[in-house]
Amino acid sequence: MLHSLGFIAATDGNLSVRLDEDRILVTPTGMSKGMMTPSDLVVVDVQGRKLKGKRQVTSEIGMHLLIYHMRPDIRGIVHAHPRTATGFAAAGMALNQPLVCEVVIGLGLIPLAPYGTPGTPELAATLKPLIPQYDAILMANHGVVTYGSDLQSAYMKMETVEHFAQIALVTHVLGQQKPLECEDLEKLVAARARYLGVNSAAPMPVYAGINEESSQESSLRARTNHHRRGNAFQREN
Ligand SMILES: [Zn+2]
Repeated sequence: MLHSLGFIAATDGNLSVRLDEDRILVTPTGMSKGMMTPSDLVVVDVQGRKLKGKRQVTSEIGMHLLIYHMRPDIRGIVHAHPRTATGFAAAGMALNQPLVCEVVIGLGLIPLAPYGTPGTPELAATLKPLIPQYDAILMANHGVVTYGSDLQSAYMKMETVEHFAQIALVTHVLGQQKPLECEDLEKLVAARARYLGVNSAAPMPVYAGINEESSQESSLRARTNHHRRGNAFQREN
């Protein structure tokens, strides 16, 4: 599905599933995800050492291991380069304006992690402060990573991010954005519990960045205050 939607080109992207406490099933390096078969998959332990499989594990295994380590609720991870969302990441723009109610409910906002060289510990380190807070992260000059309670949930979040990026792009083309009001945001955050699809352990604040307060209430309060000062929705750099 990632390949047919154009979310990845050539051998881009990687996916993984947590099988149990000790094992992670992950895609191989250097292979088109559109041509992959089950026998190409690799099983590694929680240190990334290969347990099973004929191919080499993805070079981004460090990012996957870090997410599983920091988020025990996560059992599936998707990394891809969808065009529009990656365009925002390459422009240095987070998708952090509350423009669409479903995105506020499901993801809060989509922060932008600083650039880190792929295939090195640097990449995982740039994501570290954001992993406990959000389930979808833009990676500067690179792509997107999403994760969830299973692989399908992680994949759905990737679709949501790209769809939202396209909507945000249209608002930029139109030259006008009308973000949701604070009172409506509070109602949407409160409504999360009613949505079966939103079963994340992340607080997903709708305003706070990595250096802001982390609880939903305090972030909403901070956001309201910013809004009252006419200073809301600043671009995250
Ligand atoms: Zn990548």
